[in-house]
Order: sequence, then C-alpha cells, then structure tokens
Amino acid sequence: MPKNKKGKRVGIVGAGNVGSTVAYSLAVQGACHEVILRDNKVEIAKGKALDMSQAAQSIRSHTVVSVAETMADLKDCDVVVITAGSPRLPGMSRDDLLLTNANIMKEVAQGIKEYSSEAIVLVVSNPLDAMVYVAIKETGFPPHRVLGMAGVLDSARMAHFIHEELGYGAGQIRASVMGGHGDDMVPLPRYSTVAGVPLADLMSQEKIDEIVERTRNGGAEIVSFLKNGSAYYAPGKATSIMVDAILRDTKQIHPTAVMLNGEFGYSDVVSGVPAMIGANGAEKIIEISLNETEKEQFYKSVNSVKKLIDTLNSHNFFD
Ligand code: NAD
Repeated sequence: MPKNKKGKRVGIVGAGNVGSTVAYSLAVQGACHEVILRDNKVEIAKGKALDMSQAAQSIRSHTVVSVAETMADLKDCDVVVITAGSPRLPGMSRDDLLLTNANIMKEVAQGIKEYSSEAIVLVVSNPLDAMVYVAIKETGFPPHRVLGMAGVLDSARMAHFIHEELGYGAGQIRASVMGGHGDDMVPLPRYSTVAGVPLADLMSQEKIDEIVERTRNGGAEIVSFLKNGSAYYAPGKATSIMVDAILRDTKQIHPTAVMLNGEFGYSDVVSGVPAMIGANGAEKIIEISLNETEKEQFYKSVNSVKKLIDTLNSHNFFD
C-alpha cells in the first residue's frame, strides 16, 4: 500500500447516473474507506460527493466520498471504475457510441496508468466489450487487471424476467448470460435455475425463448421509458457487487468481460465469460461447456465485438 494511504480507495471516473449509483452503493455499504469521484462536471461531482458522504454518516458508515478535480488527483486507487461517456439515447445503438466513448476511454485509461498504476480497472462504459479492449491497450496493464461489467447486470435482468413469468422464486433465481453486452448477448437457459431447479422444468420452451429475447433487449426496454437516458440502478448495483468482490478478494464467479487468450477458442478479443473475481481481478476464466447452438451464438457475439475492434483499427485508433 502506498505511503500516506489509509484503507481501500475506489476511484469512479464518470459521476453521472451509473457512476454515482455505484458510489452511493459502496458508500452506504461501507465497502471501502474512500470513494473518489472524477467527472468533467466538477461542481456536480462535488455536490454528489457531499450528499453521499452525509448519507454514509447517517448510517454510521466510515466511507467518505470525495472529488478528484483532475485525473492526477485520482491517485493510488485499489479499483477504478470507468463509467465516463455518453449514455445510449433512444434509437441509438451501443455501437454508435463507439468512437466518442473510445476517445474518452483512451484519455481516462492513460490517466489511470499514470496515477493509479496498481489498480484493478472495471469498465462500464458502452460499447462495453470494445471499451474494455481499449482500456487494456491504453493502460498496458496485464489483461486480468482490466475487466468489464455487463453480465452481472444482464443476468439480473434475466432473473427478473424469469420471476415475472413464474410469479415465485425471487431471490432464488440464478440466471446466466455470457457473450458481449450487445443485442447478440448469449443468455444461457441451460445454466439458469430457480433454487437449483432447471428452467426447462419450470416453463415451456416458448416462454424461455421470450425471456431470452427480452433479456437481449433489456437495456432498450428501459431506455424506451426513460427517453433521455439509460438504466442506472441495476447497472450501479451490479458494478458495486464486482468492486466488492475485488476489494474483499471473494473469489466468486461472476460473468465478466475479459480479454480472451485462447479460452473458448478465441484470442485478442474481449467477451463476457464466467470468471473468478478477486484482488487480482479476473483470476481464472471458467470454460463452461457449450452446446452447438450456444457455440454459434457465442461466435456471433464475439464476432460483433471483433468488428468494433476492426472499426477502431481502421481509424488507426491504437497507433
Ligand atoms: P451519464 O451521462 O449519466 O454519465 C456519464 C458521465 O461521464 C457524465 O457525468 C459526464 O460528464 C462524464 N464524462 C464524460 N467524459 C468524461 C471524461 N473524459 N472524464 C470524466 N468524466 C467524463 O451516463 P450513465 O447513464 O451514467 O452511463 C455511463 C456509461 O455507462 C454509458 O456509456 C452507458 O452506455 C454505460 N452503461 C453500461 C452498462 C453496462 O452494463 N456495461 C449499463 C448501463 C450504462
């Protein structure tokens, strides 16, 4: 631990809807000693930081939320969450955000490399898998230290839709999703259970197919109601769960966007796969067995991410 540093410190770059929800969740949980918000809108970040520090006091949490005015102030963090970027607006695909957010990611990643060189980086900004790829390249960190959050959220969405269909089992549903965080993500009903009971024993294939489709469109469904922004409560909570797994070195398995290095037959591309999360980031990738249909869907999903990386390369983004 660096000198003068007390306890665990989590930096959050982007104190918008998702970033501030992550910060609030960590603060009221007392998950770390310090949460530091960094946003271009410094005054807004200051207001939110004060508000959250006061919320933490109200529940006797020791966590203090502060603000970094520049990336240079975001020093010696154990974990840095990146939610900086533009949210998806109605009618906009995640891919439309590619170049805008890739440039933001580059700037932020270079700042983290300089000022929090030991951190585990957790990317949330979309398009998620491509942004994790950019963050890995631009920090130069070992790939296991740069992860993306999406699968925890997508699985929670699927779990909610399963509950809506069944009308029972809340809190006992383990839904599973892998692949990229895009329209061709791969929900895995075969790996989804309610109190250990396989989904196929609880509902028809037709209902399962509807849930799979609704999960794929889970983000867009919320955007269509909110009109000028995207979801943040579930994304924020899902992110704080991953931060907590890193801080407490839980070694729990979470669907995580990671750089693949031969796993599932793919390399030099980021996708969501089950991974054991601990103090060193994605410490182990779990290669679950997939049937032919699941393999095909995963291939399609990985390919979409590859196309985004190709688009970045065609703009000489990494030169
Ligand atoms: P938001 O607009 O509310 O917040 C984004 C914040 O980033 C803004 O406050 C903005 O000022 C800040 N920002 C922009 N450039 C910056 C920079 N260079 N440095 C510091 N701050 C900067 O958006 P949101 O709803 O919080 O969503 C944030 C991102 O997360 C979006 O890209 C969104 O698509 C993505 N998202 C991902 C998931 C997921 O599952 N991975 C879920 C929800 C949202």
